[in-house]
Order: sequence, then C-alpha cells, then structure tokens
Amino acid sequence: MLKPRARLKSVTAITSQWLRERGLKAVLLDLDNTLVPYRTLGEAPEGLLEWLQALKEAGVQVILVSNGSRRRVHYWREKLEIPGFGPAGKPWFGFRKALRRLALTPREVAVVGDQLFTDVLGGNLIGAYTVLVPPLSKKEMGYTRLVRKLERWVLRNPTFGLTAGASEEFDPQEYRQEPTISKGQEEAKP
Ligand SMILES: [Mg+2]
Repeated sequence: MLKPRARLKSVTAITSQWLRERGLKAVLLDLDNTLVPYRTLGEAPEGLLEWLQALKEAGVQVILVSNGSRRRVHYWREKLEIPGFGPAGKPWFGFRKALRRLALTPREVAVVGDQLFTDVLGGNLIGAYTVLVPPLSKKEMGYTRLVRKLERWVLRNPTFGLTAGASEEFDPQEYRQEPTISKGQEEAKP
C-alpha cells in the first residue's frame, strides 16, 4: 500500500506520451513540495506552467488535490490555471472526489506527490497509478518532519519490501541511466 508504481525525479518528467503508454488520462497533483516549495506563494517555479500547458494541450486533465489551506490552494489554482481543491484530507479523502469531478475511474489516473503516507497511500487505496517524486524543499512543519522520519525508516526497512524501489523508475531525460539497484536487492542475490 505504501509502494509507488513509479518514482520520478520531478513532476515535469511526466509527459503526455508517458501517460498515454500507461492508459492514464489525468494527473491528480499534490501541491506542496511537489509542484511548489512548501509554504511559498509567489511565482510558479521555472518550467511548471509550460509543463502544465503541454499536458493540457495533449488533452490530459490535471487537478490539484492538496491538504493545504483553502486560501493557499485558491492562490495556486489561479496562478497555475488548473482546477483543484483543498484541504482534501488525503490519504482518506480527496482522490475519489477528484475522480468524480473528472468522471474517470481510478485506473485512468496518476496520483502524483512527494509523500508516502498521504499521496502514495491514498492513491494506492483507490487503485490509481501512484508516482512518488522527491520533495522540492526541506523546510516543512513539525508534523511532516516526523512523518518524513517514518518514511525514511519504511523505505530503508527491507521487511516492507520497499527497498527494491518502485516497479518502474523512469526519467525521459536520462534514458541511458542504469536502473538503480537498492541495497535490499543486492543482498538478496546469492
Ligand atoms: Mg506534498
């Protein structure tokens, strides 16, 4: 339940072609530390608007599903020109609401975020294609910091079967890169 289907270097690594190859029609996006650094307002990070535009032009639906405050989600919805809502109550709530809005089934959507216990868990609970990306900024509130410690522990602990990483790791910019072999896999070999 905590294992992402894919781990990518950044949200912008997701292309319309990548989505199409997996039968995905929409991207349910986390906001904080996935699209923009935690707690920031201001301007969109470089390349983000262009990336969103390219997806929209390719007919991919995009929606924000954020646990951030109403005000914050509203700000970024306007800024990024995409629909969305928050606070969503991930992992238990939010994703099904997004599916209803898009009129799509879980198998048709990617859930993208930087947190195992909200984004990946919530996405897996509904049976969506989950994508984990590294957090954009290290600055987080106390609670999230605590959760991060737990995340790192889960990712390191072989009993969770997560050390082997996601079922696929893909970065269009680095086609030739060797797949990363985790410690757990190395040890499993005779
Ligand atoms: Mg986040």
